[in-house]
Amino acid sequence: MIQIENVTKTYRRGREEVHALNGLSLQVQKGEFVGILGPSGSGKSTLMNLLGLLDYPTKGKIIIAGHTVEKLKTWQMDILRRKTVGFVFQQFLLVPTMSALQNVMLPMYFNGKQSAAGQAAKLLEKVGLGGRLHHLPSQMSGGEIQRVAIACALANNPEILLADEPTGNLDSKTAREVYTLFKEINRAETTVIIVTHNLELAYLIPRNITLLDGRMISDVQKDSAIA
Ligand code: ADP
Repeated sequence: MIQIENVTKTYRRGREEVHALNGLSLQVQKGEFVGILGPSGSGKSTLMNLLGLLDYPTKGKIIIAGHTVEKLKTWQMDILRRKTVGFVFQQFLLVPTMSALQNVMLPMYFNGKQSAAGQAAKLLEKVGLGGRLHHLPSQMSGGEIQRVAIACALANNPEILLADEPTGNLDSKTAREVYTLFKEINRAETTVIIVTHNLELAYLIPRNITLLDGRMISDVQKDSAIA
């Protein structure tokens, strides 16, 4: 599903070059559940941007869902991203004036689906919000809003779900509930990759990859996921 070979991503800061990723190699199979760990500045967001088809590597090779990223033009990347990847961020990026249902319908609409209310309602039921379809974000709790954001990320049935600190703004009980939801999504064959600083959650995720200074310093595959 995902193959990263000797990838370097270099940013320029004035005269200085910053190697946000420095010769990273990594493979993720379809249906895996991976936690990405590492201190601030270790390259986690840069890796997520590359996995999410938002950027090109400076050097090295990335293959996602059978497509070699360096060979794609930006418009081809856009199409592949819409078809293949869903994103969940730490800040809940919902449109504040739209209901939960309308928020979930929006990415469907951008993907060319006109009348998607039924499908959006089903997704909201799946994330446990069947009773909140017509609520605005301001009428929901942080955990509920993050569930809507997850439903939005699933709107176009992605093969890969990427989440950058998805529980960073949630209390520990709600964070655990959101984690359980990711686990259910993963059971339904979606590849799930989560950046987290939450060690309690990382402990539950079957595979943990740790980055430091743009390199992978550990890749731990646990025999069985706990809980
Ligand atoms: P993390 O997500 O682990 O905090 P990042 O991927 O955001 O790490 O950053 C890795 C390194 O690359 C850091 O030194 C950061 O300052 C640098 N970096 C990230 N994005 C840019 C950018 N757009 N321009 C310049 N430097 C960047």
